[in-house]
Amino acid sequence: MEKVRSNLISLNAAYAENRGFIEEIRRESGVNEKDCYQCGKCSAGCPVAFAMDYMPRQVIRMLQLGMKEELLRARTIWLCVNCVACYTRCPQNIDLPSLMETLRKKSLENGISTGKQIKLFGDLFLWSVKTFGRVFELGLILGFNLKSKQFFKDAMLGLPMLSRGKISILPHKISDGGAVKRIFARAQEAELGGDVP
Ligand code: SF4
Ligand code: SF4
Repeated sequence: MEKVRSNLISLNAAYAENRGFIEEIRRESGVNEKDCYQCGKCSAGCPVAFAMDYMPRQVIRMLQLGMKEELLRARTIWLCVNCVACYTRCPQNIDLPSLMETLRKKSLENGISTGKQIKLFGDLFLWSVKTFGRVFELGLILGFNLKSKQFFKDAMLGLPMLSRGKISILPHKISDGGAVKRIFARAQEAELGGDVP
């Protein structure tokens, strides 16, 4: 009983200490965490839940409780692929993809490294699509390994894939690369594209 009581006290302390953080996330994401009644439909429909450290339902519960550190260090926010399955299933119309995006930004602003490699991979992927009109797999892998200083990561897989024609040494350009560049420019104008290197 004493242990339960001390846990309650520390949860209340986290909420009081991080009330400003909760309000900031609410304002920036457009999500009112109080609307969630923890039915779990979001987690049940999430295609990447199997790889997450916290289920989408738990993410919003952690926000309700003011668990700032845990939220900003969670792998889940970086694994979310913005597919909006949770949003369409939620009986309370809670925009979890927007919440995840806001938490990713906050995590980077706070210098937390959990998602740095995932962000690096995402940035290089976007750069590749922007440059060639489609992803150049070999360039993406080499660029990622160089920038993340894992020089020989997956090297043993690369040669068989090259020899079987699964990946190409040179990039393939699409016929109308300008159209893709215009899409990127419009997305960045609308602040949807994020930072593309
Ligand atoms: S589906 Fe909506 S209400 Fe249910 S747990 Fe998820 S966010 Fe909360
Ligand atoms: S938007 Fe993110 S959290 Fe929601 S279902 Fe898709 S991957 Fe899961």
